[in-house]
Amino acid sequence: MSKSHNHSPHRYEKKNIWEVSKKEEIINIFLESDKYKIFLDAVRTEREGVIWVQNHVESKGFVNLETVTSVKPGDKVYYQFENKNITLAIIGQDSIKNGVNIIGAHLDAPRLDLKVRPLIEESGVAMLKTHYYGGIKKYQWLNIPLAIHGVVIKQDGTKVTINIGDKEEDPVFVISDLLPHLSRKIQGEKKLLDGIEGENLNIFVGTIPIENKDYKDRVKAFVLEYLFNTYGIIEEDFISAELEVVPALKTKDVGFDRSMIGGYAHDDRVCSYSALSALTQMESTPKKTAIVFLTDKEEIGSKGITGSDSQALPNIIAELLYREDNQYHDIELRRLLNKSCCLSADVGAALNPLFPSVHDKHNASFMGSGVIIKKYTGAGGKGGASDASAELVAKIRRIFNENDVVWQASSMGKVDEGGGGTIAMFVAQYGIPVMDCGIGVVGMHAPYEIISKADLYHLIKGYKAFFINA
Ligand code: MN
Ligand code: MN
Repeated sequence: MSKSHNHSPHRYEKKNIWEVSKKEEIINIFLESDKYKIFLDAVRTEREGVIWVQNHVESKGFVNLETVTSVKPGDKVYYQFENKNITLAIIGQDSIKNGVNIIGAHLDAPRLDLKVRPLIEESGVAMLKTHYYGGIKKYQWLNIPLAIHGVVIKQDGTKVTINIGDKEEDPVFVISDLLPHLSRKIQGEKKLLDGIEGENLNIFVGTIPIENKDYKDRVKAFVLEYLFNTYGIIEEDFISAELEVVPALKTKDVGFDRSMIGGYAHDDRVCSYSALSALTQMESTPKKTAIVFLTDKEEIGSKGITGSDSQALPNIIAELLYREDNQYHDIELRRLLNKSCCLSADVGAALNPLFPSVHDKHNASFMGSGVIIKKYTGAGGKGGASDASAELVAKIRRIFNENDVVWQASSMGKVDEGGGGTIAMFVAQYGIPVMDCGIGVVGMHAPYEIISKADLYHLIKGYKAFFINA
């Protein structure tokens, strides 16, 4: 008798999407990822994300909720809040009072914000000082082309939009690292993560002194002159500005086989985009009202009025509830939140084969093995985790299995290796059952992150299946 190499039929085994997909589906995987790449290049900040999403859904027939007094099944609405948070909804066949299905993702991403008094001159170089936003490895931001995106609000309320570094003809900005010839002591004896201090993340912006020799700091004066002539802003205007320094790197296919996508801010724009795509691709009115909640501030703890640790989500659900029959009772809102269901749509850490030791390979997620179901996140003893109920995990697992969504279950890394959180715990505060669900990213929070095109495709498919069946 020959020895069998088959596994038990009761065994759980992750799949490889490339191996299990039919040819037509693989074509669709590539087509879908080309659309996503356009989105990722167009959106560099949460504000740009909100504008892009609003324009996109308006073209798909969504109307501003503030312009309608009532809603009925099949209606498509959006609500934009403070330019940094946007919620989309398709009103379901069931009453909103019976609960809604929500996918919540975040549009903000790690970056370098300009300080409130950023412009300095040192040794003949004008620089803008930054304050990093979110969890970055500072050394990764050195010696790469950077762009500046954001707004300056002048004291009369005029908004000046700045967007420089991404167009072919634009200049870029750089934070320069030390040459290897001279870094033996100052960096060589330090830990890798201490290679540069946060206080030194200054971007080079000019070296030409202004002609007028009466000025002090003539290079800085030149930059101020340029800013005034180009944008009509003065130095004090930086104080009421939100200017973000982001990688000036184009989204590209990665690999000979083009199976991966390299780009800035897959975390969490890939889930934001996939939720949006799932909602706008639905062919018929879902049973339950489907909501996409695109939030801000996740990378710095979700506080603030546009973050998920605010009333933004229950407020918008209350607005929808009120418009159903132009009546509002607080108890109805509280009850419907309990009857609702939410996917906290955020990325996970896919196993990086260069650093396998931080992962538990038996519980890790892998590129190309599909959507990640995360029962819990957190650090150490599940600290900060929302920890979805087994009942909810079973329901989502069933929906994915019944709709041919390739998925994998994972936790972030080895138990005591580190960890992270998502918006799940804030959604849970309102009594909304919630589970984390996204795809894996390799090199998360780096200026150039990697995802699998196959995972992206199944993420959109999975979110759609959730809206239709949850
Ligand atoms: Mn995230
Ligand atoms: Mn993140």
